Amino acid sequence: MAGTGKFFVGGNWKCNGTKDSIKQLVSDLNSATLEPDVDLSFSSLTSADVVVGPPFVYIDQVKSSLSDRIEIAAQNSWIGKGGAFTGEISAEQLKDIGCKWVILGHSERRHVIGENDEFIGKKAAYALGQNLGVIACIGELLEEREAGKTFDVYAVSSWDNIVIAYEPVWAIGTGKVASPEQAQEVHVAVRDWLAKNVSPEVASKTRIIYGGSVNAGNSAELAKKEDIDGFLVGGASLKGSDFATIINSVT
Ligand code: PGA
Repeated sequence: MAGTGKFFVGGNWKCNGTKDSIKQLVSDLNSATLEPDVDLSFSSLTSADVVVGPPFVYIDQVKSSLSDRIEIAAQNSWIGKGGAFTGEISAEQLKDIGCKWVILGHSERRHVIGENDEFIGKKAAYALGQNLGVIACIGELLEEREAGKTFDVYAVSSWDNIVIAYEPVWAIGTGKVASPEQAQEVHVAVRDWLAKNVSPEVASKTRIIYGGSVNAGNSAELAKKEDIDGFLVGGASLKGSDFATIINSVT
């Protein structure tokens, strides 16, 4: 880790699960041994921030049954205050049910649903304004265009609540993980971009996490890289024991 923030691990459950399977997953997570825990009753003493992102309809179930050690992230939020926006969920509603984080700009939303940088930027600005933490996903190319458009908007808000997830599109859900060297190279480029376009201080404290086929077998090697400050995990976050192993790769 080169950043000064804590290791950060997010589980993105995507559109998976049923009441029963989620009950089992929560129970597995509650009984998992998380090595970085110094004392479960003082979460600030733990060495990793951990969040999971259930589908909206299960957030309440997870929130009421999951250990406080793990925070909840939504997988999307609306660009502004709620109202006549059929099918959308507002940042205020997420806060109301105890969500602390939201994942925005995921490549599945960009490429399958068609969201663009401007739209994602508006969502991020609004969510940050509501004091939600934002896990901002960027794709395989840190093109100036993409970075500029997205981050100009972020720049108006506090960077304290932003985690950047670098997820090469070709690695998501494919079993093809970026090599630690490939990921490290892009993370350095993102940190340099932050240093030049925002500030060296923000560059050093912002967590830059890697996502794309992270699993219990490859996380430890990836975590050794200086600029990899954690992970955003899809498939492997659906198995409690695998997700625990990934969290424990901080040690
Ligand atoms: P994956 O998904 O771990 O299943 O590749 C990662 C993600 O989409 O965040």
